[in-house]
Amino acid sequence: MALIVHKYGGTSMGSTERIRNVALRVAKWVRAGHQLVVVPSAMSGETNRLLALAKELMPQADGPEALRELDALAATGEQVSVGLLALALQAQGVPAVSYGGWQVPIRTDSAFGKARIDSIDDTRVLADLAAGRVVIITGFQGMDPDGHVTTLGRGGSDTSAVAVAAALKAHECLIYTDVDGVYTTDPRIVPEAQRLTTISFEEMLEMASLGSKVLQIRSVEFAGKYRVPLRVLSSFTPPDIDLDEEARSGTLITFEEDEKMERAVVSGIAFNRDEAKVSVLGVPDKPGIAYQILGPVADANIDIDVIIQNVSHSGRTDFSFTVHRNDYARTMALLQSQVLPATGAESVSGDPKICKVSIVGIGMRSHVGVASTMFRTLSEESINIQMISTSEIKTSVVLDEKYMELAVRALHKAFGLEQPAAV
Ligand code: ADP
Ligand code: ASP
Ligand code: MG
Repeated sequence: MALIVHKYGGTSMGSTERIRNVALRVAKWVRAGHQLVVVPSAMSGETNRLLALAKELMPQADGPEALRELDALAATGEQVSVGLLALALQAQGVPAVSYGGWQVPIRTDSAFGKARIDSIDDTRVLADLAAGRVVIITGFQGMDPDGHVTTLGRGGSDTSAVAVAAALKAHECLIYTDVDGVYTTDPRIVPEAQRLTTISFEEMLEMASLGSKVLQIRSVEFAGKYRVPLRVLSSFTPPDIDLDEEARSGTLITFEEDEKMERAVVSGIAFNRDEAKVSVLGVPDKPGIAYQILGPVADANIDIDVIIQNVSHSGRTDFSFTVHRNDYARTMALLQSQVLPATGAESVSGDPKICKVSIVGIGMRSHVGVASTMFRTLSEESINIQMISTSEIKTSVVLDEKYMELAVRALHKAFGLEQPAAV
């Protein structure tokens, strides 16, 4: 008997029929003798629907009071899911109880819309499990020190599930979703993408942080910090398939880096369309200039990603960086009003229609020439690279958004990722 956490995403919870299938799957695990905690997301489209309603009433909801209400609103999607799933289980004769994050409680900080989990009280959950109940806990949400409902950021149910698994020292956390594992890249963009049977924790961390939405980045961070065994698998297999077969399916996130690591230099390709580029042009090239430009941006709580500074000509240089697309207008306004006058730069310009494409692989540590293969491939497709950023196991390039799919497909092919991985 083991304590297992299951997480079901929005598509997997998308209709009463699908919720019944989730209940059938959970019941199978219970009947095999396991203790089950289940963390579902809102039914697909529900969080978007709720946030769109809010937008109709307050298009620019960014003050602290409005942000509190947005979280109270968005969290209701998961509340519906847990109630329905508990009923579906009870209807199959499986004792089940549902809790909202605040009832557990899952305690978070007060950063509405992107709260971080501080602690999870396991008392109530353990008592229910001991009494033979399946415990169903809302994904995506918690409660701050003042008792307000908070949400963990889009895709946050993954993080709820892994955090619950860590708090309960669960045997494994299984993330059931609408793909049957982690692929070399998003199979919606490259149909030839291959499923990875395992992926190292470090690679998964990079893939998630660089835009692969199959797991929210914080869920991977949690798994790493607390060494939670984590597997991504399909919720669309028949719910009555053999349990051992199901338990071995999908993609396992591994913490050991032995056998597989010899296999591929590049394991996956991630991309993201969520960034925008801004440039400060003709800025006097003198010590402290990066701080003069980026200091006010950081003070406004705007995250900066890729940065480049050009070689200077006649004492002036161009300085560019990327920010989240949601922060684009705010960043441009800040550069115009504060940075331009303070630095004596000539002008500022911006482009919200960029994308970032990244190759990720542990093998890049020990192989040279990987980045040059990337650059050659893009040049053969006549794709201009605007910015480059590298770390030990990834290289990212910033491109015009219209080339994103072409770049991902060409790189996927160039690095031989269409071949089934030899295990
Ligand atoms: P859920 O609602 O179950 O949380 P998400 O939509 O958040 O599901 O994540 C699953 C989706 O992630 C897939 O449908 C797929 O399009 C996308 N995805 C992006 N990159 C990858 C990848 N490398 N491997 C698998 N899926 C990926
Ligand atoms: N329902 C939330 C969202 O759509 C959380 C999640 O699905 O993980 O972002
Ligand atoms: Mg998700």
